[in-house]
Amino acid sequence: MRSIARLMMPALALSVTALRGPAVSAQPSDLDPQIVKLVSSISEERLGVLLKKLESFETRSSLSSATSTTRGIGAARQWILDEMKSYSPKLQVSFDAYQVAKQGRVNRDVEMRNVMAVLPGKSPRRIYISGHYDSLAREGGQGASNAGKQVAFNAAPANPSGAEDNFAPGVNDDGSGTALAIELARVFGQSGIDFDATLVFMAHVGEEQGLIGAWLHAKKAVDQKIPIQAVLNNDIVGNDRGGNGIVDGATIRVYSEGPEDSPSRALARFVQRWGGRYVPSHKVRPMARPDRFGRGGDHSAYNQLGFAAVGFRESRENFTRQHDVRDTYEGISLPYLAQNARVNAAAAAVLALAPPPPSVTNDRGQPQITRAPSGYDANLTWKASPGAVAYRVFWREAWGMDWQHDVLVGNVTNLILPNTQIDDLVFGVAAVGGGGHESTVTAYVSPPRADSAVKTVGQP
Ligand SMILES: [Zn+2]
Repeated sequence: MRSIARLMMPALALSVTALRGPAVSAQPSDLDPQIVKLVSSISEERLGVLLKKLESFETRSSLSSATSTTRGIGAARQWILDEMKSYSPKLQVSFDAYQVAKQGRVNRDVEMRNVMAVLPGKSPRRIYISGHYDSLAREGGQGASNAGKQVAFNAAPANPSGAEDNFAPGVNDDGSGTALAIELARVFGQSGIDFDATLVFMAHVGEEQGLIGAWLHAKKAVDQKIPIQAVLNNDIVGNDRGGNGIVDGATIRVYSEGPEDSPSRALARFVQRWGGRYVPSHKVRPMARPDRFGRGGDHSAYNQLGFAAVGFRESRENFTRQHDVRDTYEGISLPYLAQNARVNAAAAAVLALAPPPPSVTNDRGQPQITRAPSGYDANLTWKASPGAVAYRVFWREAWGMDWQHDVLVGNVTNLILPNTQIDDLVFGVAAVGGGGHESTVTAYVSPPRADSAVKTVGQP
């Protein structure tokens, strides 16, 4: 513990120089010019070129031809690999391949390959920006599914003229998320910024058969102890026109699993905070649920294996184009997709330049929050985060989703707020790096109470 900062409640607006501990160098702006430049280098035109190329493979079904050089999953993955390789020698681009057995919607043993570009940072902790490049079209599409009609997933056996090679352009689902990830590989790879975290630009496979590529990669990360800090997954993010005619090109939904202070929720709040600062023309709408009803996406596979991950979803969907031969380039708004790409870029860049979020638990996993010294105070302790020069403490009423107050404290690992009832508020701490970049907020949360059986005498 470096030192203790004590704040008198009426004086919360006091400057950080009043706190003990080294003074924090003044930041003239919340915006880092490097990140502003990176965000502004995202190109609508490039996104359009990428989408047209993805559409040109006619289908990217994970069960389509792996051998054609112009059509199907094999041609598509090779092109994505070559494209990302061409952007920068700093990007380490590779296939992440798996031999998947016949199961569920996978109607034969098949090799599936994610395509990933890694931009190594100073630290091995990883920030992902992802989409899924595989596509699917079936009779009636998502429109029929929503209307309660039965649809066959993969009735026919795999052969070049079988159902898995049906025309399935998948330009929005999920060419949009794939193009976004590829474009961010370009702008991050060419940015010249020295990131602390390692960035990974990922095109997943097998999403339409059950989040297969994402799950296998997340499992590998668990097995190999690869520290995935955050996954920003984009799936259906390129259309601003609902199938009911309602248009919204100014907002994006971000879904995250609970409970309310889970790492995924913290990530969603972070996207809202920093996306909102770097791209104020685009509103981030966090959704306090894992995903839309009856729908799924790759972020959930990462969640299942214990990683923080959120799902970006366009605000107004056109279901008649999804999982349908009508999911073509005409259904895309490039200005809208570019705005979503900018929000992703801003959030990922801040995350990758900031220190890792601080731990607020002790070695037994208990939150380090007490009522000491008076018995009526809020006494918060956290562990120093590598690279942090200051911390920002957040709080809110214990009934609500958004942080209501925050205060920048110095390079300390403890804060006492006198006469502040810890039971009425949620507290959290973010680490702030030398460049003013802030981590996600780690909240003080009680671990779930273990069930304790009550013994009774005799028969119940
Ligand atoms: Zn999708």
